[in-house]
Amino acid sequence: MPNNSTAPIVIVGAGVAGLTLGHLLSKTGKPVIIVEQEAKVGGLARSFRYNGFTFDIGPHRFHTDDQQVMNFILEILKDNHLVIPRKSGVYMFGKYFDWPLGSSSLFKLPLKVMVKSFFDLLRKSQVKNPDSFTEHTISQYGDTLYRTFFKHYTEKFIRIPCEDVHTDWALAGINRAVIDKRVKADTLFDLIKGVLLPKRVDTVFIYPRQPGVDNFCRILADNIRQQGGIVHTDTRVKKVVQDGTAINEVELSNGESVEVDKLIWSGEIHSLAGMLGLEPFPLRYLSMVCYNTAVRGEPTRDYQWIYYGDRSITINRISVPCLFNPANAPEGYSGVNVEITCFEGDEIWERPENMIPVVRKDLNASKLVRSEDDIEEIWIERIRNTYPIYDLPYRQNLSKAMSELSKLENLMLLGRCGTFWYNNMDHSMKMAMDYAEHLLTGKELQGKEKYFAINQR
Ligand SMILES: Cc1cc2nc3c(=O)[nH]c(=O)nc-3n(C[C@H](O)[C@H](O)[C@H](O)COP(=O)(O)OP(=O)(O)OC[C@H]3O[C@@H](n4cnc5c(N)ncnc54)[C@H](O)[C@@H]3O)c2cc1C
Repeated sequence: MPNNSTAPIVIVGAGVAGLTLGHLLSKTGKPVIIVEQEAKVGGLARSFRYNGFTFDIGPHRFHTDDQQVMNFILEILKDNHLVIPRKSGVYMFGKYFDWPLGSSSLFKLPLKVMVKSFFDLLRKSQVKNPDSFTEHTISQYGDTLYRTFFKHYTEKFIRIPCEDVHTDWALAGINRAVIDKRVKADTLFDLIKGVLLPKRVDTVFIYPRQPGVDNFCRILADNIRQQGGIVHTDTRVKKVVQDGTAINEVELSNGESVEVDKLIWSGEIHSLAGMLGLEPFPLRYLSMVCYNTAVRGEPTRDYQWIYYGDRSITINRISVPCLFNPANAPEGYSGVNVEITCFEGDEIWERPENMIPVVRKDLNASKLVRSEDDIEEIWIERIRNTYPIYDLPYRQNLSKAMSELSKLENLMLLGRCGTFWYNNMDHSMKMAMDYAEHLLTGKELQGKEKYFAINQR
C-alpha cells in the first residue's frame, strides 16, 4: 500500500532482489536503508577477486524470457555488457557430453545405456505420488537415465536421498538448471526426438564487460547512494522491535536504531524467526564451498560450466570464468570454480581444506587440467544458504512458516532466501519490480508461482 510515512523502508539483504527494489524506490525519492551482513554487495551474485582472477559463485549469467527484466538489466549495465553464446556440458561414464544432449553426444553413450533408454520410451511409468521427485523423473526420462545420471547427480548435490526429494526440485533444478528451456528436453521422448531430428538452438547470455557478475549489484548500490538511499555493508539486523502485529524499529549491529515503515527481508528466514520469538521452522538451506582454482594455461574444454554426474567424481559442478569474460583471468592462466555443496556446520563446511586433495584429483581425473602441477593455487570461499532444500514435506512446512510471518503487517519477504525459492536472478529482479510497483502505487501482488514453474504439473 502506498503510504506517506517518512520512516524509511528497510531492506535486509543487498543481493539482486534487495538492490533492485532499493534502486526503484530511491529513484522516486522514497527513503531506503539497505542492510547487508557481508562486506560487499551482491549476495549470491557477488564475486571474489585475487591476483588478477575474478570468480563468481559458480556460473552466473544473465538470461531471461521477460522483456521488462531484460530491459532493466540493459538499463543498468548499459554498454558494460557482453553477449556470449552458451556452451555447457555434463561429465558421465568418464566422458564429456554437450548438455542438453545433442545428436553427436547420444552416440557416445555406452551401448547398453542407449538401448535401455530407447526401451524406457515404450514403458511409460505411472506417477502414484505427484510429490515424488523419483517418480516424476523416471516418468519423464525413464528408469535408465534416472539411475545412471539423475539419481546420483541429485543426491550428490542436494545431500539427501532422492526418495525424500520433492518434485519441485526437478521442476526447478533439472528443467531450469540442467536443461535449457529453449531446447525442449523435459521428457526422454523430447531428448530422443532432438537427437533424431536435431534442431540447432543458439542460446546466448549477458555478462558484464568489467570482470565479475557483481558489477550489476555494484552499479545498483552506487545508484541507490546517489539517489539518497543508504547501503550499509558488514551490518546485521540484531533486533526487531515489534508492537502487536507491526514492526516499529530495527536495531543494527553498527549500533544504530532505525524506525521502520516497512521491513523487507531477503535474507534467510531462520534468523528473522528467532528475532521474532517464533519456533524454528523445519526448513533447511543447503550451503556450498567454492574452490576457486588458478590453473596455468588455457582451459582444456570450451564448456562454460560442466555438471558432474559421474560416480567416480566428488565435485558437483565446475565453471570457467574466463569463458564468460576473458578478463576474468590473467594472461596465460584460466580459473576453475569448483562447487561442493554441504550443510553449514558439517565436515566439509568446518574443514573445507581437507577436500583440496579431492578437488585436485577430480580436476586431473576429468582432464580439466593438463596435469595437477598446472594447479597453482586454490582459494576457498564458504557460501551460506545457496539453495532451499525441497524435501517431501517442504510445501506444508513453508506454508506454515509463511502464515506465521504474514501476521506481521509491515513485513514483506523477498527474493531467493526470503521466500525459500530456488530461483534465478531474473526472478528476484521481477519480484522486486512488482514489490516496487505495489509499494509505490498500491497495485496488488500475486504469488511467486507466476514467476516460477512450481505449479506447472
Ligand atoms: C551456484 C549458483 C549459480 C547460480 N547461477 C545463476 C545464473 O547463472 N543465472 C541466474 O540468473 N541466477 C543464478 N543463480 C541464482 C542467483 O544467484 C539468485 O537467484 C540471486 O542472486 C538471488 O538474489 P536475492 O537478492 O534474491 O538473494 P541473495 O543473493 O541470497 O541475497 C540475500 C542477501 O541477504 C543478506 N542477508 C541475509 N541475512 C541477513 C541479515 N540477517 N542481515 C543482513 N543481511 C542479511 C545475504 O548476505 C545476501 O547478501 C545461481 C545461484 C547459485 C547458488
